[in-house]
Amino acid sequence: MNEFELIQHFFTRSACAQGGENIPLGIGDDCALLQIPTGHYCAVSTDSLVSGVHFPKDSPPFLLGQRVLAVAVSDLAAMGAKPLGFTLAITLEQIDTPWLQAFSEGLSAMAQHCAIALIGGDTTRGPLAMTVTVMGAVPTHHSLLRSGAQVGDLLCVSGPLGAAAAALPFVLGQVAADTVPAEAQQQLLAAYWTPQPQLELGRWLLGKASAALDISDGLLADCGHIAKASKVALQIEQARVPIAAAVLRTGGDADALQCALSGGDDYQLAFTIAASYLEALQQRFTAVQVIGRVSAGQGVQLLDSAGQSIKCAHLGYQHFQ
Ligand code: ADP
Ligand code: MG
Repeated sequence: MNEFELIQHFFTRSACAQGGENIPLGIGDDCALLQIPTGHYCAVSTDSLVSGVHFPKDSPPFLLGQRVLAVAVSDLAAMGAKPLGFTLAITLEQIDTPWLQAFSEGLSAMAQHCAIALIGGDTTRGPLAMTVTVMGAVPTHHSLLRSGAQVGDLLCVSGPLGAAAAALPFVLGQVAADTVPAEAQQQLLAAYWTPQPQLELGRWLLGKASAALDISDGLLADCGHIAKASKVALQIEQARVPIAAAVLRTGGDADALQCALSGGDDYQLAFTIAASYLEALQQRFTAVQVIGRVSAGQGVQLLDSAGQSIKCAHLGYQHFQ
């Protein structure tokens, strides 16, 4: 099988490359053509997964396919964008047909889940790595940026945190599988491998939330981005931070809290919004939790139940640190 047969077989003919609205021309020419709906901008974001950095080399290919697309689409969700199409640049050490088949099926499963179509890419030989670029549509008259948080707004998260970070030792094979109950472990691994981009919530928040982002590097670190971009302080009440149930079953409460505050990879949304929207918001999205508020000042403050500031040493993950 040569490069062109590989592209044909595993990408051009894959379920995720079929059809799709707004795509007059998909895979096969020098460029794909994407129709941006009238009155919309094209939102674009890229994410890479590199073997040995983001995942162990022997990771299940179906799960890799799901995850590489989910983490990229999560950025569209954080901007309130409707997914349109994505490209995939993949670097492979060799042509491993069963691996490619499973990867392509995982990619297609997530693509169907998010209603986004594969429209092109690049295939090269080298150390295993994959880069997904997603494109979506956002109305020109609304935006959901990191920079709009207003003093007095509530700070919310879309759901429980910490599961993906707690899964990491299992993903990396650093702990024996039988150290936690099998069911809890499955839930952790599902959170890590199959993040659920919060597309519906993101679109609902358009024109309502004042700032938003998806939590990829850890709650505290990512809230720091909103605080900086919006030139405000974010106060987080530690006791209100929702911790995923499976995380609480894996070990000590302190470790669980650390996963929820500083672990990354959950891809929940953090956003600021006026209190007047809260009732409608929580009625529609029942997992949303208020964790704090926006005040004048700068940075992120973690507060105990008496409202006193808690020192927190470990913020979040950074490459090149
Ligand atoms: P070019 O040499 O013009 O860059 P390629 O030979 O790399 O074209 O690719 C041929 C077609 O296949 C293009 O439409 C490209 O977008 C698509 N393609 C290549 N690799 C992939 C991939 N991994 N996934 C999806 N489409 C791909
Ligand atoms: Mg090329």
